[in-house]
Amino acid sequence: MASVKVAVRVRPFNQREIEMNSESIIQMEGQTTRIINPKIPATCSEGDGGRERIKTFTFDYSYWSFDDQDEHFIGQEKVFEDLGKEVIENAFEGYNTCIFAYGQTSSGKTFTMMGTPGFEGLIPRICEAMFSRMKSKSNSGTTFRTEVSYLEIYNEKVKDLLKKSSNQHSLRVREHPKFGPYVQDLSHHLVMDFSDVQELMTRGNSRRTTASTAMNDVSSRSHAIFTLTFTQATFHRDMPSETVSKVNLVDLAGSERVASSGATGQRLKEGAHINKSLVTLGTVISALADTSSNVTKKQAFIPYRDSVLTWLLKDSLGGNTKTMMIATISPALCNYGESLSTLRYANRAK
Ligand code: ADP
Ligand code: MG
Repeated sequence: MASVKVAVRVRPFNQREIEMNSESIIQMEGQTTRIINPKIPATCSEGDGGRERIKTFTFDYSYWSFDDQDEHFIGQEKVFEDLGKEVIENAFEGYNTCIFAYGQTSSGKTFTMMGTPGFEGLIPRICEAMFSRMKSKSNSGTTFRTEVSYLEIYNEKVKDLLKKSSNQHSLRVREHPKFGPYVQDLSHHLVMDFSDVQELMTRGNSRRTTASTAMNDVSSRSHAIFTLTFTQATFHRDMPSETVSKVNLVDLAGSERVASSGATGQRLKEGAHINKSLVTLGTVISALADTSSNVTKKQAFIPYRDSVLTWLLKDSLGGNTKTMMIATISPALCNYGESLSTLRYANRAK
């Protein structure tokens, strides 16, 4: 049965926000996240708008990360403890998993998924822990095989981030009657240890498409999917048996509304594609969350094929799978609109 978990993570103020003297509009307490509308004065009582001033959300996890001096500071280790370890459990149990980082540009998606030197994110931590777990189980008679692929979806086109000398920006997505959707000619790399993975991560990261928008100097306008295909082979009464599980770690394109970043031409087209895949993803995840909580289990129509992103992840989003979303937000007043829309998006996924 599909299961969906949602986390929210607030990043520290960035330089720009500090220079603007921007104040924090986010409060967190346990699983509760509150966002305060700066336009409504605190003096309003419930009747005249006070209720609208503060919006309250509840998620499985909430991560506060202002600065190291703050006792509430939550770093990369904790996010891995809560979410990453569960992904590893799932993989060894044979489930497919997806983790999505969703949020406006510069809210901390890449920091959460990839991290920075010394502050490694979920992808390197999950890979490293998977290898140490395989090593500790290597005497149990099970053999393991791990492959990595890393692709980018930009303007609904798929690009292999790991293929040398590939300027080709459009690989074909096809659907196999038995094995489901796949990318034709995508490279899959057998990895024997964590350093093999690190090499591929470095190669792929340097190839991600970036372009400038009015909102940010360099922003990611593409979705990046890092996939581990994990095969466990054992013998049952002398019969070989294989379990294959996929771990999909997805750094989504910035969720900012196109209008707010003054986009025209190419940027506008990018924005339309980004919106379409994010809207479809939201619909798919909320349909999954509904069917998993709905006692009648009425089979909802799930529009996987409406975007390349959801189509490709189809076999990791429905059925025997686990899905996690990490909504990343800025703490600053100037990002109120985007942060509220991110929290609402995450709320639909529960
Ligand atoms: P996005 O991928 O959403 O555009 P980034 O992950 O690149 O955003 O984050 C923007 C900046 O903020 C980066 O310099 C990053 O290192 C920093 N940052 C983001 N989240 C955190 C966090 N939780 N703690 C510390 N620094 C963060
Ligand atoms: Mg990024």
